[in-house]
Amino acid sequence: MRFKEKVVIVTGGAQGIGMAITRSFAREGAKVVIADIDQEAGKENELYMRENGGECIYVQVDVASEESVKNMVQEAVSHYGGVNILINNAGIGGNKSIYERSMEEWDRILGINLRGPFMCTKYCAPYIKKNGGGAVINIASTRALMSEPNTEPYSASKGGILALTHSLAVSLGPDKIRVNAISPGWIDVTGWKKQSKREQVQLTERDHLQHPVGRVGNPEDIAAACLFLCSEEAGFITGTNLVIDGGMTIKMIYEE
Ligand code: NAD
Repeated sequence: MRFKEKVVIVTGGAQGIGMAITRSFAREGAKVVIADIDQEAGKENELYMRENGGECIYVQVDVASEESVKNMVQEAVSHYGGVNILINNAGIGGNKSIYERSMEEWDRILGINLRGPFMCTKYCAPYIKKNGGGAVINIASTRALMSEPNTEPYSASKGGILALTHSLAVSLGPDKIRVNAISPGWIDVTGWKKQSKREQVQLTERDHLQHPVGRVGNPEDIAAACLFLCSEEAGFITGTNLVIDGGMTIKMIYEE
């Protein structure tokens, strides 16, 4: 019950990593706002959490839209009376060659993945400050640090998140708001979707064993780190980036 009575907003909280984060905070006594664009998925997660004793509401939001973000924060505040913690988790990808990539796609990915976390923080920070401080976590990616081909807008947005994180950490430090990033590696979210889209893939031994820790990650690996970074035990940690990837980014690879 580390987060009893704390109000936690999780963007993209309906599915995948966000689903594990919402449920983990609820198990620790938090009042959770599932802020997601997908209403079917959001309502489903809300129902599941309530049936399992969690305190939560689903609020529909498009994190790329300023109006929508303002409304979401307003709804969270009028329902729960404030905000203590914000998890900027909503994000989209999409691999495509630079020769075919449209600028509309670039703008949409950057809008959700980078503009979104800035706006959500901008509109939540006054309430977190009013409550005497709290924490913000920005979910980045190991793709902020390394790349496969054809991932330019996603990689750029995640690189931007790391800079946004240290910038916000310095600006909001005086208001007792700690801001940290988490960079997940390969996290298998196929079993963490709304029912109509849930299709647990069968991972191979090769998938698992290429990781120094011997397995692919799961959403609860990331949720556990969110709980730690938002807890008082992490009171001296701000502006950092925690890489959670089973060791893939420290593994040196030369082709024989
Ligand atoms: P996911 O697709 O399973 O879930 C993302 C959720 O965000 C969905 O519920 C979706 O409806 C919601 N969403 C999408 N656009 C939105 C918008 N405009 N406004 C509000 N909600 C929106 O994704 P995931 O794999 O759980 O990824 C979560 C975060 O973790 C993302 O930021 C992603 O970039 C990052 N990440 C994931 C992995 C991975 O391997 N799964 C690795 C590195 C980083």
